[in-house]
Amino acid sequence: MTTTNQFIKPVTVKRDKNLFIGGCDMTELAKKYGTPLYVIDEKTLRDVCRDYKTAFKNYPHTKMMYASKALCTSAISKILDSEGFGFDTVSIGEIYTVLKSGISLEKVLFNGNNKTEEELDFAIKNGIGRISVDNFYEVDLISKAAGKYNKNVDVLLRITPGIECHTHEYIKTGQLDSKFGFDLSQIDDVINKIITEHHNIRIRGLHAHIGSQIFETKCFHDEIEVLIHEIFRVEDKFGIKLDEINIGGGLGVKYVPKDKPPSINEIADVIVGSLEHHIKKYKVDPPTLYIEPGRSIISTAGVTLYTVGSMKQVSNMTKYITVDGGMADNPRPSTYQAEYVAEIANDTEGREEEKVTVAGRFCESGDILINGITLPKAKSGDILCVYNTGAYNYSMASNYNRVEKSAMVLVNNSQSDMIVKRETLEDLVSHDVIPDRLK
Ligand SMILES: *Cc1c(COP(=O)(O)O)cnc(C)c1O
Repeated sequence: MTTTNQFIKPVTVKRDKNLFIGGCDMTELAKKYGTPLYVIDEKTLRDVCRDYKTAFKNYPHTKMMYASKALCTSAISKILDSEGFGFDTVSIGEIYTVLKSGISLEKVLFNGNNKTEEELDFAIKNGIGRISVDNFYEVDLISKAAGKYNKNVDVLLRITPGIECHTHEYIKTGQLDSKFGFDLSQIDDVINKIITEHHNIRIRGLHAHIGSQIFETKCFHDEIEVLIHEIFRVEDKFGIKLDEINIGGGLGVKYVPKDKPPSINEIADVIVGSLEHHIKKYKVDPPTLYIEPGRSIISTAGVTLYTVGSMKQVSNMTKYITVDGGMADNPRPSTYQAEYVAEIANDTEGREEEKVTVAGRFCESGDILINGITLPKAKSGDILCVYNTGAYNYSMASNYNRVEKSAMVLVNNSQSDMIVKRETLEDLVSHDVIPDRLK
C-alpha cells in the first residue's frame, strides 16, 4: 500500500482545464490572495497523520510528535493537535506559537544544541513536557530554571548513536563527529552529573535523530538497536529505568519521479520489528516510542503558486521563465540543489510543450527554482504551481531583497482560508529605527 509521502502532489489534485486542489481553483486563489502564495491542502495533511497512526498501531506505546521546524504556524499547530500529535520544538518562537494556539506544553518536547537561559526559563515556567538535554552546560541551566519555579523537569538525553543517514549516504561509526548531543562515551558522565547534583531533573529516556530525507530503512533498525542497548546498559549500571525512546524524524518524501521513499508502513514495520527484537534480546520493558517526523508530515500537503513574468531565450541555449518568487520563499534549490515538479495551473490546452528553466526573481544567479522542466509553452501571467513545498519553505523563508514574505492559505472542501497574512511594505520597515542624529 502506498502512503501519502510517496505522492508528489496533494491527494485532492484535479485537472478540469484549470488545476484544482482541495476543491479550489488555483488560478482563482492566485487572483484572490496574490502570488507567490503557499497553499496547504488540509486533506493531504490529515491523511498523512492517519497514515502514521495506522502504521504504528501494532506498537501501542507510540507517541507521534510533529517536528515544528518543517512548518510552524498557529493553524498548522491546531490541525496537528486535533490529530493527536505532540510537538518537537527547537526554539522559544516555536514553543510560543504552539502555546498561543491554545495547546498545552505538556505535549511538547524542547530540543536543540544551544538552548538559551531565556528559552529554558520560558519552557519550564510554562510546563514543557520534555526537554531533550543536549550538553553538560545545559544541565545546569535546566536545574536552575527548575529550581526557580520549584518544578521537576522530565528530560531525555540526546545522544549521537554513531549512525547518520541521508538520502544518498549512510554513515555508521563508533563515534560520530556531530554538534548534537552526547556521544555514547559521555552518557554515563551526564547521568552521574544529574543524579548526584540535580534532583529536580528526571531522566526519562533517550533521544536521537539520524538524518533527513531518509530512504534507507536499515538506518532506523540500527538506531533502535543502539538505543535499546543503552537503556539496558544504563539500567544495569545505574539501576535507572529509562522508559522512553525518541528516534527522531527523517522519513523521506517524493519530490521528483526518481525519488523512491519507502512507505510509512514499511518504515513502521522496520521500526516496530527492530524494537520487538531488541526488547527481547536485552530483556527490557517495552519503552514508549516517540517519533517526530516533520518533512513527511507537511511537505506533500503544500504547493506554491507563482505568476510567470519575464522570459528569456539564450540563443541556442536555455529558455528561462521567471516567476515572482524564488530563493526567499523557497531556499532549498539554491542551498541543496533540491529538485521540484511544477505545472501551469491555468488552462493550457492546445499549447506546445518546451523545455525551460524556472528562474526566481532574486538577485543571485543561483536563484533557479527548477533546472530543466518540460511545460506547455508559458506566457506571462500564467500561474505556475510548484509541488511539495510544505516543508522547509515558509519555515526557511527570508526577506532577501527586501521582499515581503508570502501569504499562506489552507484549502479544504472547496473552501480557502488565509492562515498566514502576506507581509506588507509597512511590515518591512516596522523594525527599522533611524537614530536622531540621522534625522
Ligand atoms: C529536524 C528534526 C526532525 C524532523 O526531521 P524531518 O526530516 O523533517 O522529518 C526530527 N527530530 C529532530 C531532532 C530534528 O532535528
